[in-house]
Amino acid sequence: MSDLAVLGHRIRHYRGRAGLTLDGLGDLVGLAGSQLSLMENGKREPRLSQLQAIAAALEVTTTDLLSEEPPTERSRMELELQRLQEGAVYSRLGLPHVRASKTMPDEVLRSLVGLQRELDRRSREAIATPEQARRDSTAIRLQMQQADNSMPELDALAEEQLAAVGYERGALTHRAVADMATRIGFELVYVTDLPHSTRSVTDLEHGRIYLPPASIPGGHGLRSMALQAIAHRLLGHSEPTSYREFLQQRLEINYFAAATLMPRTASVEYLRRAKQERNIAVEDFRDAFGVTHESAAMRFTNLATVDLGLQVHFLRVGDDGALMRAYENDGLPLPMDASGAIEGQVVCRHFAARTAFDRASRTTEFYQYTDTPSGTFWCSSQTGTGTDGEFSITVGVPFDTAKWFRGSSTQRRSQSRCPAETCCSQPAPEIADRWRSNAWASARMHQHTLAPLPSGTFPGVDDAELYDFLERHAPDEADVDAARMGQG
Ligand SMILES: [Zn+2]
Repeated sequence: MSDLAVLGHRIRHYRGRAGLTLDGLGDLVGLAGSQLSLMENGKREPRLSQLQAIAAALEVTTTDLLSEEPPTERSRMELELQRLQEGAVYSRLGLPHVRASKTMPDEVLRSLVGLQRELDRRSREAIATPEQARRDSTAIRLQMQQADNSMPELDALAEEQLAAVGYERGALTHRAVADMATRIGFELVYVTDLPHSTRSVTDLEHGRIYLPPASIPGGHGLRSMALQAIAHRLLGHSEPTSYREFLQQRLEINYFAAATLMPRTASVEYLRRAKQERNIAVEDFRDAFGVTHESAAMRFTNLATVDLGLQVHFLRVGDDGALMRAYENDGLPLPMDASGAIEGQVVCRHFAARTAFDRASRTTEFYQYTDTPSGTFWCSSQTGTGTDGEFSITVGVPFDTAKWFRGSSTQRRSQSRCPAETCCSQPAPEIADRWRSNAWASARMHQHTLAPLPSGTFPGVDDAELYDFLERHAPDEADVDAARMGQG
């Protein structure tokens, strides 16, 4: 909702209360009634001196006029109708813009707003079908492949923010993250009742970022969540209007968080030294910056090509072999469906990402060379356990560049002929013959299939739960007013 439109409504509201016509107020402040009318319709911005004159004539303060709240419920509906009609969904219909005139009954206005709001909601729902989600996700993956998974402008932004809070080296403290939030006018608030469908919630009105409690095990994910919330603000993100935009925003906030926890300059310096020693290891990189193995592995792919001259791949695979996340610019043959989507596709049984689950000791990285139809790759895998079961994180490179990594001397070798079905996805014919009519199994629901996304302002987030949460946590209006007075 544009601030000018709200301002216009507030001027009209107070003019009505003062019992003045447009010309009547115009006479008092030295403006033509027609100019005032443009202001009330949000089509012209008053100069500060004009605003002061109007406020004086209406016996209110300029702060009263500049409040972002619509003055009445009726006005809120009128403004919403205007906003919805200006939106892409309504515009496509080629229907006339209906102006909420003074004579339009409240119930007609409420009905129009309700219908258009629902139309808006349904179109968002339609955008977020699993098919579209998969297409969008593939498009983003290919876009990042083109860019060697690097976003230098976000690296620069992260380093600028770090410099401003006095960061020098090593792991980033929670304190420094809180300082970064303060610099952009936000306070980090830890709560135990975040809506289930959210990772963090930001109250823009009161400048608060709500996060889960700091004391939860594995709390280092918390810096990342706070940084992601900060990134939304720094990057000026607004409500995503498509699933693609939602994914793009998520990519950017994840990248920013990683680039802050593992700043480019310090990381590249660290990794170059490891390369000189032919001893690059994601586990060392992880420990040097105090992050999760997955974050370190992903971050490594941001820097490997541009800064270290290495083509790489990254896989996150579940213990059922399904791919959850992947990136490659080294030609590793990833399993994909006809549309090019990789999520939920089953990775070759002979890849390190899967053989890593077989060994008894899983405390260190697991190394393996794998021959594929696209050449031989060296991979390093680490297994772990998450909320949705076991998974493996794999980083690897083509044979020729394995020499820069710890574990390149491994004797372990494996052959993959995937995507040929005779490699590992089909049983041997004699075994299939034996069991085909002699067995029965009950399927587990697939966790990785992209389920239809709940509709709402933010894909995947339950609006009702979200707004209820914000209501519950909003600071007392009296406190806020007091704080504002203090500032003024
Ligand atoms: Zn295979």
